[in-house]
Amino acid sequence: MKKLKVIVIGGGASGMLSACVAAQNGANVTILERNNRVGKKILATGNGRCNYTNTTANVTDYNNQEFVSYGLSVFTPSRTMDFFKELGIEPKVEKEGKAYPLSEQASSIIDVFLYELNRLNVNIVTEAKVISVIRRKSSFTVYLEDGTSFDGDKVILATGGKAMPKSGSDGSGYQLAEDLKHNITKVFPALVKLKLDSPYLKHLQGIKMPTRVSLVHKGETLQTEEGDVLFGNYGISGPTILQLSRQAMNLYNKGEKVYIKLQLVQQLNKKEVAERFSNSKEKAVDFSLVGLINKRYISAIIKEAKIEKQNTLVKDLSTKQLEKLIDLLFDWRFLVTGSKSFNDAQVTAGGVSTKEINEQTMESKIVKGLFITGELQDIDGRCGGYNLQWAWSSGYLAGVNASRLEQWLESQM
Ligand SMILES: Cc1cc2nc3c(=O)[nH]c(=O)nc-3n(C[C@H](O)[C@H](O)[C@H](O)COP(=O)(O)OP(=O)(O)OC[C@H]3O[C@@H](n4cnc5c(N)ncnc54)[C@H](O)[C@@H]3O)c2cc1C
Repeated sequence: MKKLKVIVIGGGASGMLSACVAAQNGANVTILERNNRVGKKILATGNGRCNYTNTTANVTDYNNQEFVSYGLSVFTPSRTMDFFKELGIEPKVEKEGKAYPLSEQASSIIDVFLYELNRLNVNIVTEAKVISVIRRKSSFTVYLEDGTSFDGDKVILATGGKAMPKSGSDGSGYQLAEDLKHNITKVFPALVKLKLDSPYLKHLQGIKMPTRVSLVHKGETLQTEEGDVLFGNYGISGPTILQLSRQAMNLYNKGEKVYIKLQLVQQLNKKEVAERFSNSKEKAVDFSLVGLINKRYISAIIKEAKIEKQNTLVKDLSTKQLEKLIDLLFDWRFLVTGSKSFNDAQVTAGGVSTKEINEQTMESKIVKGLFITGELQDIDGRCGGYNLQWAWSSGYLAGVNASRLEQWLESQM
């Protein structure tokens, strides 16, 4: 009985899962990984704890809902947890549905993968950087940088995107896909810190506060998130900003002006804040803000309200100045001027066009027998376990379909 030879290029999240599934289906599987070990990026996920899925994940958490719909409905978050449970990972589900291994160690995920891959006799070749994939009549030859080559019946391209290139995913997969006649949509860092245009950044640097943050475009609020924001000398970061960054950078890259809006005061309404000022008429304006907002914001927000002296008494402010100050406490906007680079990003937006991939099998529509998974595709999700979930869902479909012997036999006729 013929055993299909499946070559998986990239031993990251989607590559390892697809290799397990293809081997469980009886294929003879080889993983080619450029690093000296598999799963390097996984070690960095979830701050070293690996937020490996999100129990609430659904199509709305991704950029291309139609494409991910089938994969997410087949290999669901609960199926992901079952898969890993079978390998030994007990899930710990935290707030907002974020799931981690109970061990709180990302390395546990790699350990159980390695155990399973060994059990299934998957051949793991490390320090194996793939530089080209050649389609033969009914097979593939995969060439490594050192000149060696591997032949296979099917190839799964699981090289990831460009985020955190030192983990091994440096975008070389785009070239491999392009050489095989695929189109790559515009690629840019997502889930990334944003650069802002503001004279106050040096002063605000180091502030870490739970805040309500929105993305504003043409005066319209597009997205609002609540949680920590963190100011740096370049701009702003924190979980809220990462969530906004995808949409912000998509518009910014199209030449649009987008703003980050901070609502510093959330517990009181504008009327209550105005009352607070009217009860502090004899106080200096800077002191009147103490106890309402973080002290580090005070001098910057006073300058932004065009109040020249910080110690101006509240009673001496013009109505316009006071109104402006109150407005700023609820709506302080900063112009976005870009993002940090791929070195600082958690995912890549853009990638192999999903129009060229069958969403039910992950097989390329351009090259039969070639499967494309994970972040290499033009798919990215929110922060919180969604990107790994897509790596697992797409890896599963690729693993199942690349190891289908009947289909392969049909293609030989
Ligand atoms: C700091 C950080 C934290 C993150 N935290 C989370 C989180 O908690 N939850 C979450 O859901 N997502 C998280 N992500 C995103 C998540 O890690 C990725 O979306 C996911 O790993 C993508 O899986 P993949 O299989 O497509 O690619 P990868 O996991 O990146 O794997 C690709 C593999 O291919 C190898 N490779 C690349 N090119 C070649 C080549 N030419 N030849 C051979 N091998 C090659 C690479 O070395 C790598 O091992 C995080 C990302 C980062 C950077």
